[in-house]
Amino acid sequence: MRLLVATVISAQTTDVTVNKVTPTLFARYPDAAALAGADRDEMEAILKPTGFFRAKTDSVMKLGAALVERFDGQVPPRLADLVTLPGVGRKTANVVLGNAFDIPGITVDTHFGRLSRRFGWTEQDDPVKVEHEVGALFPKRDWTMLSHVLIFHGRRTCHAKKPACGACPVTRLCPAYGVGETDPERAKKAAEVRAGRRGAAVTDAVAPVPADWLERLRALPGSVRAEDLSSFTPPPEGGRESAVLVLVGQDDDGRPDVLLTERAADMRSHPGQVSFPGGSADPGDGGDPVATALREAHEETGLDPAGVEVLGVLPALFLPPSGFVVTPVLAWWRAPSAVRVVDPAECAAVVRVPVAELVDPANRSRTRHPSGYTGPVFEVRDLFVWGFTAGLLSQVLSLAGLDRPWDTSRFVPLPEHHVGARR
Ligand code: SF4
Repeated sequence: MRLLVATVISAQTTDVTVNKVTPTLFARYPDAAALAGADRDEMEAILKPTGFFRAKTDSVMKLGAALVERFDGQVPPRLADLVTLPGVGRKTANVVLGNAFDIPGITVDTHFGRLSRRFGWTEQDDPVKVEHEVGALFPKRDWTMLSHVLIFHGRRTCHAKKPACGACPVTRLCPAYGVGETDPERAKKAAEVRAGRRGAAVTDAVAPVPADWLERLRALPGSVRAEDLSSFTPPPEGGRESAVLVLVGQDDDGRPDVLLTERAADMRSHPGQVSFPGGSADPGDGGDPVATALREAHEETGLDPAGVEVLGVLPALFLPPSGFVVTPVLAWWRAPSAVRVVDPAECAAVVRVPVAELVDPANRSRTRHPSGYTGPVFEVRDLFVWGFTAGLLSQVLSLAGLDRPWDTSRFVPLPEHHVGARR
């Protein structure tokens, strides 16, 4: 039960923090019945350092109650039963089965999925499909250790952005050798930084985002002015009303990400432009920017608005080239739905970009448009984010205290296909 609870509260925090709070938690609540009957305020105080402490308290109390009501206070040793428990998904269930019950299970987290694809074991993105395809390649008895080894290797050496190929022990076996740094010395330094031996207390190449990121975002609406977000504020005569959805979700590991879209490369206007979902107001929106942002996001990406909790409406901004008055709607993707390219003629990609990668100083720079406009750039996941979207994103992350120091004097050229656009 302790492993199950510790895994549930490990989302969006470090192993170190989990290990700090669990002794107090389990001393106070030693079994499922005690968890179920906990004093909510007291448990929230214990879990506070892990972030999302209210939601985690809720999950842990409901988990305790479900164990008492349906499993006689014991953790069931079956995947089908485990995934019915509050806060327990397939990944958590496989961790518990493999490590507490010695029942082999494959834990497909972000590292396991990425390395499986690099090794050519699967082409799938869906974690369940990855689990099944990779599982078919290995004897069942090896599944749990395979998960540990891949996750460890992904954290230490074969990172998403800068794999240390030149310092990798499986170089000769890997079909993806060369996707990262191959120079042995430079690769070794990169691997050492990830392992924390060069003073960087990190388990991954990108630093974690503060655990209370949602609370920080929640505080923004009502406290920021248009001038805080952009130097382009609406003129007195107004303009064409529009809205964008600044939607922050979280991945399987609880790390926040932002939903962005990329326009098709053959569009006549703004080809390849990366934007928040959004667009012009319709009469049917009743003048409500929230209705506009959600409707446009649904039309562009298939997003189900029912899973979106609007945190608030930010002050309207202005897009001088087009005359649009743009209202950003800041939202939390409480129950993410599948998103996709709805119209390939207009949209090339719908992407969830991790905040940790957005704020990674290695991905940040500025650019200059021939018109004289200068502004921030994010280069992430093969996207070049600049203009209005990058400016707004940069300010939102900064005002929420989620960004990291970066070199604002570093300029990169604006790609040719963006030069004709100004946004
Ligand atoms: S050779 Fe490179 S891509 Fe292959 S496992 Fe090693 S670090 Fe990863």
